[in-house]
Amino acid sequence: MQVLFVTSEAHPLIKTGGLADVSGALPQALKSLDAFKGEVKILLPGYSAVLDQIITPKKIANVEVLGQTCTLIMGKMPKIYSKQDSATTVDVIVIENAALYERPGGPYSDEDGVDWEDNALRFAVLSRVASLLCSEATPYAAWRPMLVHCNDWQTGLVPAYMKLVDHSTVKSIFSIHNLAFQGSFDASYLSMLALPVAHFNINGFEYHDQISFLKAGLFYADKLSTVSPTYADEIQTPAYGFGFEGLLQTRQNDLVGILNGIDAHDWNPAEDEHLPKNYTASRIAGKKAVKKHLQQQLNLKETADAPLLGVVSRLTHQKGLDLLPEIIPQIVAQGCQLAILGSGDSVLEAHFRALAMQHPTQVSVTVGYNESLSHNIMAGSDMFIMPSRFEPCGLNQLYGMAYGTPPIVSSTGGLADSVVDTNKITLANKTATGFVINNVSATALLSGITSAITSWRNKTMWRSIQRNGMQLDLSWEPSAQKYLLLYQALLLAK
Ligand code: ADP
Repeated sequence: MQVLFVTSEAHPLIKTGGLADVSGALPQALKSLDAFKGEVKILLPGYSAVLDQIITPKKIANVEVLGQTCTLIMGKMPKIYSKQDSATTVDVIVIENAALYERPGGPYSDEDGVDWEDNALRFAVLSRVASLLCSEATPYAAWRPMLVHCNDWQTGLVPAYMKLVDHSTVKSIFSIHNLAFQGSFDASYLSMLALPVAHFNINGFEYHDQISFLKAGLFYADKLSTVSPTYADEIQTPAYGFGFEGLLQTRQNDLVGILNGIDAHDWNPAEDEHLPKNYTASRIAGKKAVKKHLQQQLNLKETADAPLLGVVSRLTHQKGLDLLPEIIPQIVAQGCQLAILGSGDSVLEAHFRALAMQHPTQVSVTVGYNESLSHNIMAGSDMFIMPSRFEPCGLNQLYGMAYGTPPIVSSTGGLADSVVDTNKITLANKTATGFVINNVSATALLSGITSAITSWRNKTMWRSIQRNGMQLDLSWEPSAQKYLLLYQALLLAK
């Protein structure tokens, strides 16, 4: 089984969100399965951060696509944790083209958060190279994929190029990590992207008169997957489908929801190298030390008696965190502390900053992206807030459960599939792992937070909620097994 895993970000090389966590961990987890006989290689654009960090890079080919001259470089993924054996990390093929990918700023936007103007070309080149690697005209004949696994809109053109241009027999899977990001571009790009005009219609990659990379993936891939069973159902309805619900309904027999896992070394409080102290479910004392350290680091009042609520998130409408500012005064009045890390909506960032100024010993806000602080907030907080309006899978609630930091979540997508609300029954049968609010409103969020705080004050109850979450197997292995079955079924299909 030779699998090409195409993605626009992969931890630890480059990350803006959950897609990077999945792309860093799933190929590695597949490689580690006894039942997986073969190889998986990741294909990534050659952003500066990627070129700087790949291990043992070696030029393997030159390739000319869409008028762009690129060099393909193969190396290995860097280790995620120091005890990892570097010989076992996954291979990564990087597309080097300085003009397209080596820029200051992020993978999709400049330093001010404005999308790169040539994103259509940048990700069409990624997709075109992937398709070529699966074709007879491959620039790297030493390795031939049997299956290509595409992720989100940036790779949506891969199945389109495979079917319409290269007429490839290699099978394709397109995974939806977030339907909100669609990669829609003006029809005038058709010739630059070498897309056949004959398929620029409803039965092709056209969507509302634009070229939709996302629709191309949804339409042309042999199989579709998304990152939780509930999200797989939700996206077939108008409320969550962003207009693609009709197409997704027609493809429902090809669509499967597989919940993400978490990297059992990177996100494990017993081994986490970002923490001042490690801990386990049976030796939880270390968590108190992390909380103390976090309070010092964030200039919060150093006390074990204040429940500390954590937030690590993109600050966007999706995440529901715009509901938080109006209830912060009530949360603070209950003696709580808040540690917020995130970036996105500038109005919301300013709102949080103002609240931190008003309550400096109780509210801390860090605007930006900080991997190490995110681990420390996850471990040092008592509970974690995630009131998303929709959430394909969500990883932070999984990290929260693994870290003994019960999450307070809305009942949607992967949150609904992973967090069990605390009540008499779930406490008795030891399945309670968090607090689920049934609608996304400030009132519901405040009530969820209040019940979490009440439970926190009952130390025996809290320990049992923590233990329930920490004992779950949230590792990638069971999910990687499901992807393997999907791959096998696809390869057997005619
Ligand atoms: P999404 O992919 O929608 O942003 P997920 O919950 O699936 O949400 O994954 C988010 C990932 O990004 C998690 O690993 C989270 O810890 C990380 N993350 C989000 N914002 C930040 C930040 N400001 N600093 C560090 N890590 C962040």
